[in-house]
Amino acid sequence: MTYSYEAPVSQSLFDRAAAVTPGGVNSPVRAFRAVGGTPRFMVSGAGPYLMDADGREYVDLVCSWGPMILGHSHPEVIAAVQEAVSRGMSFGTPGEDEVALAEEITGRIDPVDQVRLVSSGTEATMSAIRLARGFTGRAKVVKFAGCYHGHVDALLAAAGSGVATLGLPDTPGVTGAQAGDTIVLPYNDIEAVRAAFAAQPDEIACVITEAAPGNMGIVPPLPGFNEQLKELCSAHGALYVSDEVMTGFRVDRRGWYGIDGVTPDLMTFGKVMGGGFPAAAFGGRRDVMEHLAPAGPVYQAGTLSGNPVATAAGVAQLRLLDDAAYAAVDAASEQLRGAVTEAFTKAGVAHRVQVAGNMFSVFFTDQPVTDYEGAKSQEAFRFTAFFHSMLAQGVYLPPSAFESWFVSTAHDDGALERVAEALPEAARAAAEATA
Ligand code: PLP
Repeated sequence: MTYSYEAPVSQSLFDRAAAVTPGGVNSPVRAFRAVGGTPRFMVSGAGPYLMDADGREYVDLVCSWGPMILGHSHPEVIAAVQEAVSRGMSFGTPGEDEVALAEEITGRIDPVDQVRLVSSGTEATMSAIRLARGFTGRAKVVKFAGCYHGHVDALLAAAGSGVATLGLPDTPGVTGAQAGDTIVLPYNDIEAVRAAFAAQPDEIACVITEAAPGNMGIVPPLPGFNEQLKELCSAHGALYVSDEVMTGFRVDRRGWYGIDGVTPDLMTFGKVMGGGFPAAAFGGRRDVMEHLAPAGPVYQAGTLSGNPVATAAGVAQLRLLDDAAYAAVDAASEQLRGAVTEAFTKAGVAHRVQVAGNMFSVFFTDQPVTDYEGAKSQEAFRFTAFFHSMLAQGVYLPPSAFESWFVSTAHDDGALERVAEALPEAARAAAEATA
């Protein structure tokens, strides 16, 4: 397929990048491999817009994969960062903003008595499962196919959808030993979880799940699924670990917990809580968290954990996220979903817009998608045509059919109208696409 415009400066930067960085990127999906073409190198962002190195402006529907919920370059977050950075970049000691950020989190989310700050969502989930194993004295971890918890060795196992299938490494470099204690189950299948506990009583340390999955496209939990997970975990002495790296502080001021009210034993956070900087966290029940060093025996540490600039950004962003902010994000998401549905319907494209709070994605299928198999069975080739038409018209979508779309408080009528204007042509491109 050829696309309607060139991006020469981005292309030359990508060529330079490819010489010095594997695949030219520092995180694989940025390379546009799923959709083809030249990844756009961005130079600046303001509100709902991104500017690329070729001087083209885009309405941003990625928001840095979730964190930029106030839009880009929010003046109050910038002011907080500038104030913090003027005092120094890193001290390797405790600092007040770490306490303030922990208080912002524990103050919002009742099940979180204590948090430990880390630098990425991957570190948060990795540490949470280590803690769950240390606390319970058990080895096995249940995860669901299609849920992504960062590139933690034990959690990259996603192969095998059979009940209680022992995880097989999904990538070279993860050994059988690292993945062998991972049990991968089909998402939304509570009977599979029940069977896994029955087959391995007293061996499962925790069940980790995305609170509302957004990494296979949006596949929300069926009614009662999270609640039943929690009940099964409690009945079997395992911990229920809710990964809210994506949903936390995004879908509600209390994250998905604010929507379904199911009380996890441990939770993980990232993205929004860092205000665009590397800050993440895991937290939960005090008796579990007190097993962490130096209070307890489970080791976990980080040179840049609780970095003063990152925590200042996080505190500033969270404090700006009041009810009015979430109402604005919800309204922008709803307006956009309406426009997307209308465009695909008019173009005669079979599709489903699936929603988790203000996060949503489009599946090219007429069937409801409740698990990873369903997600993979969509006509993803239609997304490629759709994506490139939107890009050519100045709308930056996630470059994959299996990712959530994100909006912010800055997505005003002007930005949303620009998206609405681009949609009909892109929907026609999706309709005409062939596999
Ligand atoms: N957990 C979930 C639900 C995520 O969506 C992600 C990243 O997208 C992670 C964990 C990993 O976070 P990070 O990319 O900050 O390591």
